[in-house]
Amino acid sequence: MPAAAYSLLATAGKARRGRLTLTHGAVETPAFMPVGTQGTVKSLTPVDLRDAGVQIVLSNTYHLWVRPGHERIGKLGGLHRFMDWDGPILTDSGGYQVFSLKEMNKVTEEGVKFRSPHDGQWRMLSPEKAIEIQETLGVDVAMAFDECVEWPASEARTRDGMNRTTRWLQRCMAARQHADRTALFGIVQGGTHESLRVEHAATLADLNLDGYAIGGLSVGEPREELVRFTEFTAPLLPASRVRYLMGVGYPWDIVDAVLAGVDMFDCVIPTRSARFGQAFTSSGRVTIKNTRYRDDARPLDENCACYACARFSRAYLRHLFTSNEILAPRLLSLHNVTFYQHLLSRVRAAIEDSATTGSSALADLHRLVSAWNRQADD
Ligand SMILES: [Zn+2]
Repeated sequence: MPAAAYSLLATAGKARRGRLTLTHGAVETPAFMPVGTQGTVKSLTPVDLRDAGVQIVLSNTYHLWVRPGHERIGKLGGLHRFMDWDGPILTDSGGYQVFSLKEMNKVTEEGVKFRSPHDGQWRMLSPEKAIEIQETLGVDVAMAFDECVEWPASEARTRDGMNRTTRWLQRCMAARQHADRTALFGIVQGGTHESLRVEHAATLADLNLDGYAIGGLSVGEPREELVRFTEFTAPLLPASRVRYLMGVGYPWDIVDAVLAGVDMFDCVIPTRSARFGQAFTSSGRVTIKNTRYRDDARPLDENCACYACARFSRAYLRHLFTSNEILAPRLLSLHNVTFYQHLLSRVRAAIEDSATTGSSALADLHRLVSAWNRQADD
């Protein structure tokens, strides 16, 4: 039995309503994964995540490897037990992080050599190591170790990175010991070069992976390029497998990508924005520190059922922020994560509605969310 099974339940245009069944449960798609870099979605407990409607969380191979170490987590019962999250977990391969350590990395065919910023030790992250770490953590989905090519990059440079990504993917596949419980997703590269995207998507489709991610986007390119290459790449991926757009994004980016046929997303935006006092609401963005909320008795979002919105006023949340209280980022994180999950649940309902009744529910939701991008509260 493969560790991941995707079933397509309904379609509306290119948008897909599906279900991804993993070792620790099913994920209704389209789905958004909050990011728990260090084995925790910052300031939120697993109970908070469940209450917010979170189905699957993302954690980071690189961070857990360098501290506290994957072997230690494995001996303590695996990542699910360690962080007390019994739902599905996806980990990135660590590639993005080691490639970000600009001064420290040396890329060879073997892998990436880097000096750990924690202890100064030299380490090598390779396809085999990335699989060993993720399988020892016991996650539901492991991402293949890929070469992250910077943006912008020439076609020749992008092609080299793409071909190395394919060779590394084949090494990842060969290194797997627990294919029955940890699924493996491949990552389609090719940057902003259409012919390379076509070529790499075809190469990876032949490898019959558990799922497919669109990589090499959300790396600093303009938004128009993100939208264009998501629309271009998604239909190139096998229709029978789940499609994941890595590192995206704002609510409007997500809805755009759903309309292009993408099923899964992850991003630090809801939690990072919360720590900076930014909330996403059904009437647009709210910067809670803004003086205008000083006497505002309304909840952050009148259409949100989260604990922060049920119990507290904007005036109180603003007071917590301006007083640097630790409850402030926690309550805003709870709200933003709930807001994202609620948005995705609306997206799923709109796809179903549009698919079964031919209604304009999905187009209406797209219009509404796109308008949030243009709205600002200051
Ligand atoms: Zn809320």
